[in-house]
Amino acid sequence: MTDRYLELVNSGLTQKLAKQLGLPRPAVLRRHRPGQPLLDGPVLVLGTGADSDAVASLLSSPPGGAAPTGDSPAVLDGWDLEVHRHPAPDARYAAVVLVLTGVEHPDDLTAPVLAAASTLKSLRTGARVVTISRPALDSDAPAVAAARQGVDGFLRSLAKELRAGGTGNGVVVAEPVPVTAPSVVAALRFFLSTRSAFVDGQLLEVDSDAGELPTDWDEPLAGKVAVVTGAARGIGAAIADVLARDGATVVAVDVPAAGEQLAQVANRVRGTALQLDVTAPDAGDRILEHARTRHGRLDIVVHNAGITRDKLLANMSDDKWSSVLAVNIASQLRINEALLTSGDFVDAPRIVSLASTSGIAGNRGQTNYAASKGGVIGMVRATAPLLVPFGGTANAVAPGFIETEMTARIPAVTRQVARRLNSLQQGGQPVDVAEAIAFLASPAAGGIVGRTLRVCGQNMVGR
Ligand code: NAD
Repeated sequence: MTDRYLELVNSGLTQKLAKQLGLPRPAVLRRHRPGQPLLDGPVLVLGTGADSDAVASLLSSPPGGAAPTGDSPAVLDGWDLEVHRHPAPDARYAAVVLVLTGVEHPDDLTAPVLAAASTLKSLRTGARVVTISRPALDSDAPAVAAARQGVDGFLRSLAKELRAGGTGNGVVVAEPVPVTAPSVVAALRFFLSTRSAFVDGQLLEVDSDAGELPTDWDEPLAGKVAVVTGAARGIGAAIADVLARDGATVVAVDVPAAGEQLAQVANRVRGTALQLDVTAPDAGDRILEHARTRHGRLDIVVHNAGITRDKLLANMSDDKWSSVLAVNIASQLRINEALLTSGDFVDAPRIVSLASTSGIAGNRGQTNYAASKGGVIGMVRATAPLLVPFGGTANAVAPGFIETEMTARIPAVTRQVARRLNSLQQGGQPVDVAEAIAFLASPAAGGIVGRTLRVCGQNMVGR
């Protein structure tokens, strides 16, 4: 699906015209390519204390190992970036990382925030701002909770001010998890990289120090077997592509009616196809059986199959309500139950489900869809603890407006408005959702449990 407006304001004569007329000019976002450098310029690490030293060491050290520091004794492979600890007057930063884990009063935010402010006018295209902070808890002293919650408001507002495809996101690290825990490191890298092109204004919680860093950041899913439902087209096909690119063997699942497209996807990713309606009572068993017999194991399940049957509730039929609930949530519950009781999904498994911003903020005409997608968010929260004992996780990704056949069916004017209503002023691409799913499916994300990550360009509606 193409966005003609975005193309016009970024090319030739129409680009000049748009500039003269002061029209909004959404940036062309850079996407991940294997082998690409993590950042195309220096990174500024702000904050004081052992945690900021540990983060700076991780970012600046050569692959041989970042020096262990203070509270963070782990030896890590460094990322070999040019790191500054104070803003240099002529530097054009590709990223600014604010390590705010030590704030105890809102006043503690002043120095790092104003240092970051001094860099903003000269940030590079597609720059990244990432905060690393602690969650504000009810048991915190009021000043501590104020400072920590203040990071949330600060980050979400700054993300709305960044231009030229820049994004702002945060990693919120539960105490006493160190900032060098695998999931903190992996989340920081995800937010710094082009893999998170359409993730903006989000704060992702890391709950534990579980997880394992990859030996090769370009192949974080090497050796894993992943099932993707609804893989014949759209976001599901992109998920199959990205998981395979990251090293996984993919089982592509879709309804028999989509068999031809499904076979094409499975061939493209050198995986296998399984024609299956996910609402079938034995869907979980058939997925397991296929993965076991064809590939010897099952590590990752991505519940992507989904449908919309939009109607105002006053006009809602039983069929429209029930079919959406059956495909979008009931099937996931049933498949998960089969996986969890099988005894064959116990080696640090990953479940990643597709929610939607409609399930968070609500959407007129989508009571059925939003009930199902809100349901997904509740389901992963309650499923995650069942997987933790064997190193597993369940999480969700909530896309906003993504350019697919599903959104191409939205009436033209509504579509134009909907795709501009976010900080990046454009719709996301299926690959953007797929990158977030690949991240949550990776061994390194083992400390992120029961969370929902939005991939919405910081949609103006909802959090
Ligand atoms: P799409 O309609 O393009 O593709 C959905 C795929 O799921 C199709 O291949 C379809 O055949 C398959 N499918 C439907 N019912 C199935 C069933 N019973 N069994 C097996 N396969 C089935 O949709 P999309 O835009 O790629 O969306 C993918 C997921 O992302 C959905 O869960 C959707 O709700 C979610 N999502 C999409 C957007 C967006 O903007 N496109 C936004 C938020 C969430």
